[in-house]
Amino acid sequence: MISLDILTIGSLVRDAEGNITEADSTSTLIRADGLNIVVDTSSKERKPHMKTAFKQLMVLPKDVDIVVLTHTHSDHIGNNDMFPKAEFLVHSGEKGNIKGARVIDSEEEEIAKGIRLVHTPGHTHGSMSVFVDADRKYAIAGDAIPLKENVQKMVPPGLNYDAKLALESLKKIIDYADMVVPGHDYPFMTDR
Ligand SMILES: [Zn+2]
Repeated sequence: MISLDILTIGSLVRDAEGNITEADSTSTLIRADGLNIVVDTSSKERKPHMKTAFKQLMVLPKDVDIVVLTHTHSDHIGNNDMFPKAEFLVHSGEKGNIKGARVIDSEEEEIAKGIRLVHTPGHTHGSMSVFVDADRKYAIAGDAIPLKENVQKMVPPGLNYDAKLALESLKKIIDYADMVVPGHDYPFMTDR
């Protein structure tokens, strides 16, 4: 059995001109056959939230086996230090250097039964999403889909190096998923 829990829900705060003044990513815990997998570790400011969530779920951070980083922006990697025993996974397209991480160099990789890393570039070169085949199909999208609004309006993330590629990645995610866990917003259902 695979279960998903949100450790902290991401957000983006903008000023009157629309510039982002604060960004904290979502962090998700996947539990699958005794394996604890965290996807993104949010920003340092969210550490208290993360700690409380782990307590409520009765999981110890030190018992996390794998940490998947959807990409290496600081608001997604701020609490990496909570997981001293985990193997960190980062895509080779990422420029940020995560010491000791295992580099994923493929378009797709299954890391456990029903759990796949899928390369979804556009926001960054090495952006990955995590596709989870559980009670329904979930995609933990990182900033390939930062907000629900991106899907409602079918627009790529504002911050991208290739808008066309970013939109292709977004489509790939919503083609698969019944429910999307975006990088900076509440999870939402697609209309698959
Ligand atoms: Zn980002």
